[in-house]
Amino acid sequence: MGYKKPSFIENIAEKIGIIPNLHKEGYQEFDGDMRHFSDEEVAQMYENFPPPEKWDNWQEYDPKVWPKKVKKTYQIIPTTCFNCESACGLTAFIDKETGEVKKFEGNPYHPGSRGRNCAKGPATINQITDPDRILFPLKRKGKRGEGEWERVSWDEALDSIAARIRKALKEDRHNEIAYHVGRPGAEGFMNWVLPAWGIDGHNSHTNICSSGARFGYNLWYGYDRPSPDHAEAKFILLISAHLESGHYFNPHAQRIIEGKMKGAKLATMDPRLSNTASMSDYWMPSYPGTEAAVLLAMALIILQEGLYNRDYLENWTNWEEYLKARHADKEVTFENYIAAMIDEYKEFTPEFAEKESGVKAEMIKEIAVKIGEAGERFASHNWRSAGASNLGGWAVARCLHFLTVLTGAVGAKGGTSPNSWNKFKPQVPHTPKPQKKWNELHFPKEYPLAFFEMSQLLPHLLKDGRGKMDVYFSRVFNPVWTYPDGFTWMEMFLDESKFGLHTALTPTWNETAFFADFVLPMGLASERHDINSYATHGGTWVAFRQPVLREAARRNGKPVEYTYEANPGEVWEEDEFWIELSWRIDPDGSMGIRKHFESPNRPGEKITIEEYYQYIFERVPGLPEVAKKEGLTEFEYMAKYGAFEIEKGESYNKNETALTKDQLNGTEVDKTNGVIRKNGKDIGVMVNGKAVVGFPTPSRKNEFYSQTMVDWKWPEYATPTYIKSHIHNDVLDKSKGEYVLVPTFRLPTLIHSRSGNAKWLVEISNRNPIWMHPDDAAKWNFKTGDLVKMNTDIGYFIDKVWVTQSMKPGVVACSHHIGRWRREQDKTGNRWATNTVNIDNSEKGKWKMSTKSGISPFESNDKDSKRIFWKDGGVHQNITHAVHPDPISGMHTWHQRVRIEIPGKGENYGDIFVDTDKSHEIFKEWLAMTRPAPGPDGLRRPLWFKRAFKPDESTFYIKEEK
Ligand code: SF4
Repeated sequence: MGYKKPSFIENIAEKIGIIPNLHKEGYQEFDGDMRHFSDEEVAQMYENFPPPEKWDNWQEYDPKVWPKKVKKTYQIIPTTCFNCESACGLTAFIDKETGEVKKFEGNPYHPGSRGRNCAKGPATINQITDPDRILFPLKRKGKRGEGEWERVSWDEALDSIAARIRKALKEDRHNEIAYHVGRPGAEGFMNWVLPAWGIDGHNSHTNICSSGARFGYNLWYGYDRPSPDHAEAKFILLISAHLESGHYFNPHAQRIIEGKMKGAKLATMDPRLSNTASMSDYWMPSYPGTEAAVLLAMALIILQEGLYNRDYLENWTNWEEYLKARHADKEVTFENYIAAMIDEYKEFTPEFAEKESGVKAEMIKEIAVKIGEAGERFASHNWRSAGASNLGGWAVARCLHFLTVLTGAVGAKGGTSPNSWNKFKPQVPHTPKPQKKWNELHFPKEYPLAFFEMSQLLPHLLKDGRGKMDVYFSRVFNPVWTYPDGFTWMEMFLDESKFGLHTALTPTWNETAFFADFVLPMGLASERHDINSYATHGGTWVAFRQPVLREAARRNGKPVEYTYEANPGEVWEEDEFWIELSWRIDPDGSMGIRKHFESPNRPGEKITIEEYYQYIFERVPGLPEVAKKEGLTEFEYMAKYGAFEIEKGESYNKNETALTKDQLNGTEVDKTNGVIRKNGKDIGVMVNGKAVVGFPTPSRKNEFYSQTMVDWKWPEYATPTYIKSHIHNDVLDKSKGEYVLVPTFRLPTLIHSRSGNAKWLVEISNRNPIWMHPDDAAKWNFKTGDLVKMNTDIGYFIDKVWVTQSMKPGVVACSHHIGRWRREQDKTGNRWATNTVNIDNSEKGKWKMSTKSGISPFESNDKDSKRIFWKDGGVHQNITHAVHPDPISGMHTWHQRVRIEIPGKGENYGDIFVDTDKSHEIFKEWLAMTRPAPGPDGLRRPLWFKRAFKPDESTFYIKEEK
C-alpha cells in the first residue's frame, strides 16, 4: 500500500502513453496523500482512533479548510450501519457548535467489524443529508398512485391505522393484516409485536434472497445458515462474491484476507470474474446451476482417495438410517456406508462435472484434494448466488455442506459452524405466546417445505382471489422494484379491494411507496434503535444501533421523550411507532394486546424505549458485570460503546455439549438411533457412550439421508443430489439466441434499492450494462455501448452491452441495483439515481415503460447536486422477470432464460415491456410443479422445520374441510 516511486521503465511507458500516467507532476507532492505512508504507518493511524474517554469532547482539525489549521470539537456517539445486514460499527461525529452530524467512521469497539467499514458505512452521511429525503408523515390525496400527498401528524396516521387494525381483529380477520419487511436490521422486535396482536402477519423478502441456501443447510443439520471461520481456515471455498458483497460482507472479507495472510487458499465458483474471483487462488467459472455437479465430483474424490474424516462421519451422520432405508440388503457397517456413497455418486466424475459446468476436471481434482487435506479447517459459503438462482438451487448448499461433513469441518475451528452458535437472541419483556393463526397467503399448502413466506407470490395469490390485505405495511421494502414481476405488484396495489390500507415505512422514496396511502419516514442508521447480533466469525457479539442526536441530547442533560424530537424533521423509528400503535389498537387493554407493551417496572404504564433495551441488556451474558465495573447501567454501557463481545471466538463443536444431570432426568433413549427424549421432545443423542445435545434434526445428527424428504413426497431427493436448473444448457436453444442471464450479482458499493440517496455511492456506480464475452458479442457484432434487447418469458428490457473477458462465454449478466425510476407525477426522490419514466398501461395486462430523461444536475442545499456528471440511471431488469418459485424450497429462482436480439427501429435504451397475463400463467405453471400438503399426520409442514414467527403447534395440522 505504501507509495512507490515509478521505475525507469514505468516513467518511459507513462511518458509515451503505453500505460496511464499515475505520477503526474505534483501529484505526489500533496502531503496528506496516504500513499506517502508506509503500511505500518497506516496501520498505526487506525490504532489511533480517539479513546472513548475523549468521545464527549474530541478535537481535530477541520479537513475542509485545509491548509488552514482550524480545530473542531465533536461529540462521538456510536451506532451501527444499516446499509446491509452486517451491522458494522459506526461512530457519528457531532459538531458541538452546530449540533449536526458531520461524518461517520468505524467503531473499533465493535467485535464484528473491528473499526472497519465498506464504502456504504461512511456514506450514511449522504443519506441523512440527502436533500430529497422524506421528513414528515404523508397521506395520499386523490387516487392511489396519482402522486398527490399531504402532510399529516403522527397522531392522525397512528389513529387511522390503529382503528383499521382494531376492526379487523375484532371481526376475526387476522390474516388480512401483514407486515412485509425488506431489510429487518433488528433482532426480535417484531417477534414481540406481531404475536402480541395474535396475527400470523410476518412476511419477509427471504424467498427472493436466501431461502434456497437455508433450505439446503437445514436439511442437513437443522440450522439454516453457515458461519465460516475464515480467519482460521486452511482452505476457503466461496460460491458467492463474499470479498466484495454478500452476507456479513465487510466482517467476512477482512477475515478471509486474514486467513489468506496466514496461508489459506481461496477458491471461488462464479461464472463472472468478480472482484472476489480475481483475488482467489482458483477461479472456477462454472456454467450457472451446475455448481452441485462440481461439488459432488469433489465429494467423490474425497471419498475415493480416503480423505474423509472417519470419526466425524461415523459419529455425526445418520449413516445407519441411510443403509437401512436404501441398502437393506447390506450389512450395516461403516465400510458399506462409504462404499454405498461411492456407488451413489459414481457418475459424478470430474470429467462429467467438467462437461456440465465447464470447470476443468484437473482443477476440480486439485481443489478436492486440497479440501480433503485442509480437513476440519475447511471454510465455505454459499449465500444467495447459486442457491437463489436455480430450480433446485437449494441442492447447491446441500452439496457444499456435504464437503463440510466429509472433512469433519462442521463447527470445527477453521471450519464452518451453524450461524446460531454465534448469535445472541434477545429476551423481550412480557413475551407473547405464539399466534393461533396460520396465514395461507404467506405459507400456502402447495409449498409445505418452503423455507420462508412465499412473498413473491402474494400478488398472484391475491389475483387468484385467495384473500386480501386489509392493512398492509411495507417496511424498508420495495417489491415493485426489487421483486420479479413488479407490474403485477403495481396492478394489485392499484386495486383497493386487494390492498386495503397500504402504509410504507421507509427512510426514502421508493417505487412501492408511490403506491401507498401513508408514507411514514423512518430513521436511517443514526436515527433509530435496534439490536444487532450476527454470525460474523467464531465469536458472539451484540451491538446497539441508536439515534445519535437523541443520545447526545441525553448525555448533554436535555433528554427527549420520542426519537422524532431529536431527528431531522419528524423522522421517527419503528420501535416507538409499533409500541404507540399497539397501545392505540387496544387503548383500554380489553383485547389483551396492551399488556405486552407495558413497562416492566411501572405496571399499567407504557414501556419506554430505554426500559425495553435495559430489560434486554440486563440479560446479555457478562454485560451486567462489565457495565457495573464502569459504574454504568447496561443501557448506558451499550449507549457508550455501541457493542459488547459476549464470547471471544472459541464457540466450536457445540453439538458435543454434554447434557446436564438435570436435563437427563426423566429421559429415555431410542434404541434404534440413540436419540434422547424427554416429555415427548428430542433433546439430545448418545454418541460414543456420551449424552450430548447434537443437532436439531430428527436423528440429532447431520442427515446424509433425509426421511423428511421421503415423507413429504420427494424421495428422489433423499440424499444430496444435483438437480438440473431451469436454465440448464439442455433447455436453451442457442440457434434462437437463447442465453442464461445472471441477474443476481451485486456491486459492492450499492444496496438493493436503498442507495439512491447516497451521492458518493451513486457517483461510483450508476450503470448496469449486460456483461458479455467477446466471443458472444461477435455473434451479433456488438461493441461496448451498443443496444441489446433482452427478451424474457414475459417481456423485454433494452440495455447496453459491455464486452468483457470477465464473463464466461455463453452466459450474460446484469447487476441488480440500478435502473431506479420515478414518474413525473411522483415526489422528487433519489435524484442522484433515478430516471424519469413514462408508464403506459392503456391495454389491460400490457405494461410499457420508457425513459423520458436520465439523471441531471439539480438545485438543492447540497452544492454537489449541481455537479452531477453522470446521466445514465441504468435499466430496471427485475420487472421483466416472471415469478419462478422452486417447488420445494419456495426460493425465487432468479436466473433467466433470455433471447438476445438487436433492438428494432424506434426501440430505445431503457424501454421495457411486460405482459402480466403471461406472468400469471407462468405462476400457474410453476405452481403445478409442487407436491402440496398435507404430509404425514395431516401436517402442513414438518414440525422440526424452522419457520419464521412459528405459530402455535395446533395450527400445523390441516383441519378436514367439511
Ligand atoms: S459491510 Fe458495509 S454496508 Fe454492510 S454494515 Fe458493514 S459498513 Fe455497512
